Amino acid sequence: MHANEAVARVQRMRVLVALGGNALTADDGSAGPGDQISAAEAAMASVAELIVEGVDVVITHGNGPQVGNLLVKNELSASVVPPVPLDWCGAQTQATLGFILVNALEQSLAEQGVRRSTAVIVTRTRVDRDDPGFAKPSKPIGRYLTRDDAVALMDHGQRFEDRGERGWRRVVPSPEPREILDAGVVSILADQGYVVVAAGGGGVPVVREPDGTLRGVEAVIDKDLAAALLARSLKADRLVIATDVDNAVIGYGTPDAKPLGEVSVAEARRYADEGHFGSGSMGPKVEAVCRFVESAGRPGVITSLSNIVAGVRGESGTVVVPNG
Ligand code: ADP
Ligand code: MG
Repeated sequence: MHANEAVARVQRMRVLVALGGNALTADDGSAGPGDQISAAEAAMASVAELIVEGVDVVITHGNGPQVGNLLVKNELSASVVPPVPLDWCGAQTQATLGFILVNALEQSLAEQGVRRSTAVIVTRTRVDRDDPGFAKPSKPIGRYLTRDDAVALMDHGQRFEDRGERGWRRVVPSPEPREILDAGVVSILADQGYVVVAAGGGGVPVVREPDGTLRGVEAVIDKDLAAALLARSLKADRLVIATDVDNAVIGYGTPDAKPLGEVSVAEARRYADEGHFGSGSMGPKVEAVCRFVESAGRPGVITSLSNIVAGVRGESGTVVVPNG
């Protein structure tokens, strides 16, 4: 590497892009291999635009539908092949999604005559052994089951909730992400010019045992909250949460709906306290962006995938900025 090139690299803006479900499944939620590849291609065309602009990008992503599919396979084949735990499902989907994302990204970049090396890191996220989430599993995952099927799995220690008409749904702990354990290698690769995919699905949840060893746990980590932590660990200049709406909206779904443009952290938190954001959807995104802005002192953006370049410039989406 030429010395000037090294300087140019260090000065490039670093952006962590967190991709939501719509970047990895069809619009109607279909998640066959072809659907996932097509969605990844569309998403990576947007990410490629950012890279072509000269931005250093690190990518993270959700994995809900993909883990859902693995859980169904676990259920249906349990008498033939031993079911694998949720942390294994997380690691497996990081690998598969990482693979299709970097393939799609390299293809998009090549179409524009740009060559960048890519890497996918199987990433562990440490959570606390005594996180209150473990005592009170709350995150619904997988498909709805009949009572009898749910009871059979409850006999194996899984927890289900009766969701009325639709059936029974498994609930698992969703502990707070405390540390992205593999952030160091992500940082080194990003410094070297690699486009890295990391902490997919919020990272594989692990706890540290008293003897110092790490153990995977049956839990899921919110990918937006993990993204905030990863962005801070990487000293990213921006956290961009790319989803299927252009803005966080107050009065969402009401006649008074108002999309938020630039807001301070204090304003964003006030709207969150007033209950404007869906608890399993927009809520964690706003919380993640607020945490990043508070800890890094840099803006965080919530926008749609197709608007990420303008979002990074602060010209589109909901841009949360430090208090004035
Ligand atoms: P992703 O899969 O990208 O993580 P989610 O589906 O979890 O996205 O969250 C995005 C969704 O949040 C939007 O499609 C919208 O339906 C929902 N949502 C809930 N509250 C709001 C709000 N106040 N403003 C905008 N979107 C909201
Ligand atoms: Mg979604």
